Amino acid sequence: MEQFKSFQKPIKVKLTPYEKVLKYAKKYQQDAKAKPLKYLRTKPVKAKIKKKSGKLLSKIRKEVETLAKLKAKKRDNYICQRCQKKVEGSNAHASHIIPVSHGNVLRFNPRNMICLCYHCHINWWHKNPMESAEWFKLVFPEVWEYLKKEKEKIVKFKLEDYQKMKDALSK
Ligand SMILES: [Zn+2]
Repeated sequence: MEQFKSFQKPIKVKLTPYEKVLKYAKKYQQDAKAKPLKYLRTKPVKAKIKKKSGKLLSKIRKEVETLAKLKAKKRDNYICQRCQKKVEGSNAHASHIIPVSHGNVLRFNPRNMICLCYHCHINWWHKNPMESAEWFKLVFPEVWEYLKKEKEKIVKFKLEDYQKMKDALSK
């Protein structure tokens, strides 16, 4: 039977971050079986689960943002929208149009992103926020109107929401 052991290895399934947290929480529940239910509600266990899901949340946030930026750059055909130069590699930047804070839906929306070259992004866009905002309003009035409405939305995203966004952006 020894020689068949290798065939019995379980196939490794890649878990989504959401599933990872569930698995982690489940493991604690199993550990707690022998112990009173109170165990799960103890501070150190709660803190551990919170820390783990916090880490996964920040990881998936970053992933979703990167995918959204990629989408924006593709939409703009990798052309700097200000100077019209073709950009690639580290010269291809995707900048948020409306600065975003935690919980703001616009952080993950490709429509709130614009493809710029390194120079236009760092030396113009960020150095002249008023001027660049005016420029944007003039060149992309419809997008500006849309963004003005969207920016009021503050949503508390859960892990599964990020997973859905990630799937949608990966298409
Ligand atoms: Zn440029």
